[in-house]
Amino acid sequence: MKILKKQDPKIYKAIAGELKRQQEGMEMIASENYVSEAVLEAIGSILTNKYSEGYPGKRYYGGQEYIDVVESLAISRAKELFGAEHVNVQPHSGAPANMIAYSAVLQPGDKILGMDLSHGGHLTHGHPVTLSANIYKFVGYKTEKNGKIDYKKLEALAIQEKPKMILAGFSAYTRQLDYKKFAAIAKKVGAISMIDIAHIAGLIAGKAIPSPVPYFDIVTTTTHKTLRGPRGGMVMCKEKYAKAIDKATFPGFQGGPHEQVIAGKAVAFGEALKPAFAKYARQIILNAKVLELELKNYGFKIMFGGTDNHMVLVDVFGSKGVTGKEADAALDKIGITVNKNVIPDDPRSPMDPSGVRIGVAAVTTRGMKEKEIKKIAQWIALAIENHTDEKILKVIHTDVMTLCKKFPLYKNLNW
Ligand SMILES: *Cc1c(COP(=O)(O)O)cnc(C)c1O
Repeated sequence: MKILKKQDPKIYKAIAGELKRQQEGMEMIASENYVSEAVLEAIGSILTNKYSEGYPGKRYYGGQEYIDVVESLAISRAKELFGAEHVNVQPHSGAPANMIAYSAVLQPGDKILGMDLSHGGHLTHGHPVTLSANIYKFVGYKTEKNGKIDYKKLEALAIQEKPKMILAGFSAYTRQLDYKKFAAIAKKVGAISMIDIAHIAGLIAGKAIPSPVPYFDIVTTTTHKTLRGPRGGMVMCKEKYAKAIDKATFPGFQGGPHEQVIAGKAVAFGEALKPAFAKYARQIILNAKVLELELKNYGFKIMFGGTDNHMVLVDVFGSKGVTGKEADAALDKIGITVNKNVIPDDPRSPMDPSGVRIGVAAVTTRGMKEKEIKKIAQWIALAIENHTDEKILKVIHTDVMTLCKKFPLYKNLNW
């Protein structure tokens, strides 16, 4: 970044500061990860200069011989990785990917049955502040006290509501879904089945958890969470919906695709196809399980009864009388970044909810395993229990930084 440093020192300094923050801190926000240096090179490339509206072989402008190579590789690698019939790699991110999927197959006013937001669903699955909630009618289903979805209840709700779409997927739910049951209920009521795998795409790609791709009509995802690619989105679907998805992406919702990011997606998919990624995905699951068990031992209530994926949702207020906001702030002070999060039917407000969500994908990328996770759980418990004690927090912060130094990040980056 020599040129940037000279030309725009203010921006350079902010980027350098963020690099240092990422290197010295422990990233445990469940939706974050660290991309490889190869992905960074691809997304920082001159592909950003090119307009390529359309699709490989069918573009509106000339000069696409290299762009077509990039996008075709991204598509074929994604197909191989997920076993998808059709893939569109152009969606700019997860929220646009969902808007594209809805608009491809639904009419304004149509009904979508999606997961209740306080039970783990995402904003784009029906929060009233979103554009999609203004256009479509969302009805939410919930999880049971045991943390599972009652599929009999879901079926009864589907029969009663007659939605055009049944939507599975989540941002803060931690159990394995029964894909076959979702698909069977959708079929029974004549609804399109869609799943949003934004959080768990990497675990699916690494075959650490079962894949929903064979069972659902449409699958949307981000590429930057457990999948460990650049910030972006993607839609996969059955051949039957291919034309509708492509049209809804461009010209329906977006303009020119960001080919530098699509190159980064292709590189990340190439990485995910290697055996090392399957090992990574399995280690994520092992690490999350250790985090769950250790935090339970320290007296924390883990929502949904535990985890089958890369994250845990902890009821810190119910367990320790410390609010999500207070816990989040205390962990920030020890260099562990998490996010405060609502728990199912949270009695507290979203701005200061009962829970925190903790994910292990990023620390697993750094190479941390069960032994380190045990330490991290101990620090998290100590920090939350002593959240007003600046002295204790400072001591833990030093320990966190020492551990991070042992698992260096971006050591070849010459910034
Ligand atoms: C993160 C997430 C999204 C949104 O992705 P953005 O890239 O932030 O737009 C959509 N759906 C789910 C389930 C998510 O977890």
